[in-house]
Amino acid sequence: MEKIDTPIFIASKTEFRTSVENIIQENEVHGVKRKTPGFTFDRLFAAEELCLDYDITVLPPSKYLLPTPESLLKFSSAPKLRVRSGAEVKPSIILGIHPYDLHALKLLDAVFIGDLVDVNYRARRSATAIIGVDCLNPWPYSFAASMGTALPPAIFDIWLTDLGDEYLIEVDSGRGDGLVKRYLKTRSASEIQIKQRAKLREDSLSRYQLSLNVSPREITELLDKTWNSPLWEELGQKCFSCGSCTMVCPTCVCFDVRDKMELNRKEGERYRHWDSCMFEGFAKVASGETACTERASICSSAGENWVVSVVDDVCMPAWLILPAQYTSITVWPRRLNSGRQYRTSKLPLSAHAGGTYPSRTSLSKRKTVTTPIKGW
Ligand code: SF4
Repeated sequence: MEKIDTPIFIASKTEFRTSVENIIQENEVHGVKRKTPGFTFDRLFAAEELCLDYDITVLPPSKYLLPTPESLLKFSSAPKLRVRSGAEVKPSIILGIHPYDLHALKLLDAVFIGDLVDVNYRARRSATAIIGVDCLNPWPYSFAASMGTALPPAIFDIWLTDLGDEYLIEVDSGRGDGLVKRYLKTRSASEIQIKQRAKLREDSLSRYQLSLNVSPREITELLDKTWNSPLWEELGQKCFSCGSCTMVCPTCVCFDVRDKMELNRKEGERYRHWDSCMFEGFAKVASGETACTERASICSSAGENWVVSVVDDVCMPAWLILPAQYTSITVWPRRLNSGRQYRTSKLPLSAHAGGTYPSRTSLSKRKTVTTPIKGW
């Protein structure tokens, strides 16, 4: 993304709405819509559908960058073998992303366009403009402020702050600049308006009702110390392994790859679809063995998978950077519409951090099937 000096503009809400209408006419725009109950990211066809004062969406906007199912390649075997890319990438705009979801996107970037590049993700990412908005009235179960994810990382094209009758508009890329010039009627923001944004953001941080009493950088060590914690057993007793928590998680990177053949046996497609480390079969290998056979071990492995693999690499707290509704420890009343709620303030995490539970000594304690494989 081409970076520019960050100009800051002002547009009245009436002007902004007209601009959104024009953007929608000429582009594929996915924004936040009211849903009953809650809010959802969906294709916008009219500016009046857009809702920017929401608290949380049912699914995160990462669904547009990692769609499911997603065609990877198509092939035909006659008259001779032909393979072509199955990916369909169209330029689009995500409008209304919140800061914590943008932090999650940063984690996905680290996984999919880091050392190893996923070409489909990279193509979609570079074809997608991000227009975000400050979350000034956080969801009551969110603890993003204590994880440092309540304010946006600088990977957006345009960022909005609701000043009442106007939006403060920060532009952070050449693409964002192009969108503002083409569609928005703006004027430069004054010092007072920029200070007003700082005050609104500060006030919003004090509105978070929950916090985690652990620094993001300590989470890896914390999970390492709690490998044998009875908490996993307790969660395993209650978990159905339904995978809903991972399906709504904006940092989930799990997928399964499958091939399907047409009935003519000459053409086929390779596609991937979302998978979940909470599924019993997730760790199963072709020979039938699995690393996780009990739900408690699935829960603890899921925690480790999410946090250790991602946090270690990019120094960000994966599931715990997110609002409480994304975590499997905190079961979301709205996102899942089921389950009991564990308020984060009641979690014994700080007790674990103090070493109350025995340390994990080795991954070999993980329950594994050791049946010899015939013929190997
Ligand atoms: S923690 Fe809850 S949402 Fe996640 S797999 Fe278990 S039952 Fe499903």
